[in-house]
Amino acid sequence: MEKPYIIAGPCSVESQQQLQEVCRELCSTPHVRMIRAGVWKPRTRPGGFEGLGEPALHWMKEIADSGMRMSDGSPVRFCCEVARPEHVELCLHYGIDTVWLGARTTANPFMVGEIGDALRGSGLKVMVKNPVCPDVRLWIGAIERLQQVGIEQIAAVHRGFSMYNNHGYRNDPLWEVAMQLRRLLPDTPVLCDPSHIGGRRDVIAPLSVAAMQLDYDGLMVEVHPSPDEAWTDGGQQLTPAEFKQLISKIIPDPQNSTPHQSNTLLEPMRRQIDDIDHEVIRLLWQRMELSRHIAEVKRDFRMPVYQPQRWEAVLADRLNKAADLGMDTEFVKDILERIHGESMRVQMEQLPNDKE
Ligand code: PEP
Ligand code: MN
Repeated sequence: MEKPYIIAGPCSVESQQQLQEVCRELCSTPHVRMIRAGVWKPRTRPGGFEGLGEPALHWMKEIADSGMRMSDGSPVRFCCEVARPEHVELCLHYGIDTVWLGARTTANPFMVGEIGDALRGSGLKVMVKNPVCPDVRLWIGAIERLQQVGIEQIAAVHRGFSMYNNHGYRNDPLWEVAMQLRRLLPDTPVLCDPSHIGGRRDVIAPLSVAAMQLDYDGLMVEVHPSPDEAWTDGGQQLTPAEFKQLISKIIPDPQNSTPHQSNTLLEPMRRQIDDIDHEVIRLLWQRMELSRHIAEVKRDFRMPVYQPQRWEAVLADRLNKAADLGMDTEFVKDILERIHGESMRVQMEQLPNDKE
């Protein structure tokens, strides 16, 4: 897959005219490789626009048959979400290039199985959005189910996770979950969908830049001729002009890369990072060893493992220290809570079990 692989298009197809207009714009935008356009829309609550269905596919085919080409000269390519086996049949009938499983579908192994059966032998390429919940195994499981029915070209799409606290985005990116997927499935390309992570036009560019910095294979971005009038996801769609600006921001300037020079600068700092990480691990080990000894004393004096007052004091002290150093205290708190959780686990291991 040539990087970055850029997919763009409206959240939903709304009319033949809207589709034609956005396709003309995107086909004249360099680096766009495929057009996304929602045909069946999964709505959180009933009563909203649920997509135009088959007529939208018919218009896509008409555009392809008219000979429209992407900016690199290849025939226009479309992708859309499928949520049922019948959707797959219709996409095949109308010559859609690629389909994707939405976040709500990926979370449901039964649906993934049924759609997988419909995809068997179809030759369609498939993208798998992350499930709504941050469960990397569920995401990988969906990809594996599709591999099992013989689909060869599969990409993952990171669109963020529904969280109680999503840090101001529509969906919390939790980049580390996507990193884990990339580590476990190194051969699967991963695209970022900044539109559904961000949920707001003003954060699409910084999220896209972040994805490029994290070496994603590409992006899927929502673009609409007039976002404020869009029937779905109006707040997060970019105008074609805004999207063109975004592209110029994220495509690297070939003049500007001299790997040799950057390596000379990076190597000494990377060695220091290696040393620091080793030291952090050694210190964590030392801390856990101490926890074991503490557990023995608590056990002998019949004190509970969890001492809330001590933990409150520890946390406050460390967060003050972090704030003094100008660190992100949320980040430090996350790490401390993880360490404390492990310390509790280690201490519980020291408790006598029933057999003793
Ligand atoms: C979409 O791409 O328009 C969409 C509904 O996606 P998701 O499954 O990520 O919510
Ligand atoms: Mn959308």
